Amino acid sequence: MAMNKTILVYSPKYNTDLSIFGVSKPFALDRGQMVLDQLEKDRDKSVARVEPDLISVEDLELVHTKKYLETLKDSEVWKQIFELRHKEFFASPKNLPLSDLFDDIRLKCGGTLLATELALKHGLAANLGGGYHHAFPDRGRGFCVLNDIAVSIRSLQKRRLVKNVLIVDLDFHQGDGTALIFKNDPTVFTLSVHSEEGWPEEKQQSTLDVGLYENQMKDYQQHVENAVDKALQTFTPDLVIYIGGSDPYEKDVLAGTKFMQLTLDEMNKRDKYVIDKFADKQIPLAMVFAGGYGPHVWEVHYFAVKYMLNRAGC
Ligand SMILES: [Zn+2]
Repeated sequence: MAMNKTILVYSPKYNTDLSIFGVSKPFALDRGQMVLDQLEKDRDKSVARVEPDLISVEDLELVHTKKYLETLKDSEVWKQIFELRHKEFFASPKNLPLSDLFDDIRLKCGGTLLATELALKHGLAANLGGGYHHAFPDRGRGFCVLNDIAVSIRSLQKRRLVKNVLIVDLDFHQGDGTALIFKNDPTVFTLSVHSEEGWPEEKQQSTLDVGLYENQMKDYQQHVENAVDKALQTFTPDLVIYIGGSDPYEKDVLAGTKFMQLTLDEMNKRDKYVIDKFADKQIPLAMVFAGGYGPHVWEVHYFAVKYMLNRAGC
């Protein structure tokens, strides 16, 4: 009897309505729902997904300081993390306090943890969201409040479900939070291929950094493949977390990502390569979305998720 596998993690609650908090900043739209909608159109039936639970505070404290978590009760701290400028935030007594977003973020962190658990079980899985790779233990930054990737790894390690984890971070921006958290930890290999010219100006040190300049982008795929091969020469992971940011895509609208202008074909080739590379080796891989801004970036994630479903036989 064929066993039904569910490898996608998503909740309609991912689609936070920021306007009720007084926020009018055009953040990364909820790409998970758009991906699911298109998959359901293709398949003419619903696509199986599982809803995560909130990540526990106990798990959060494996990475984040109690002092930092305490500061998240203060809306000013959230305004800084989300880089809200005056015209992007309207203070009103009718608004919910920004600190109420804490459980929203915990849910998405729970989604990443669940995706890693499903990957260990089924080989491939994805959280249709998450990927907050800029969050540090003691402060949030760059739209990232809690580092779902690091928290998930620490939770799995604590339960002895994995020992060695490889992070393949191909978001436009360096995975600096994750790099810092695991800097002196030989059990976690952080690989980041990113724009050297992009934010953050001050980079952290990953296990392997490939910082690309605009004029190197014609060889992007080769740089990615070389980096993955190099990581695998010295490191044997029990699990891979793939941070498949769509912000290197030419249709990403964030001004700061102009240094990477990859076509949809190039993005698809990248994602297919990473999924195949580890599926071929039977190394479990969990994918998260991370960065991607504007109305078109969901197309990148759609291909990656569709490819993953096919590859997993779902
Ligand atoms: Zn990014």
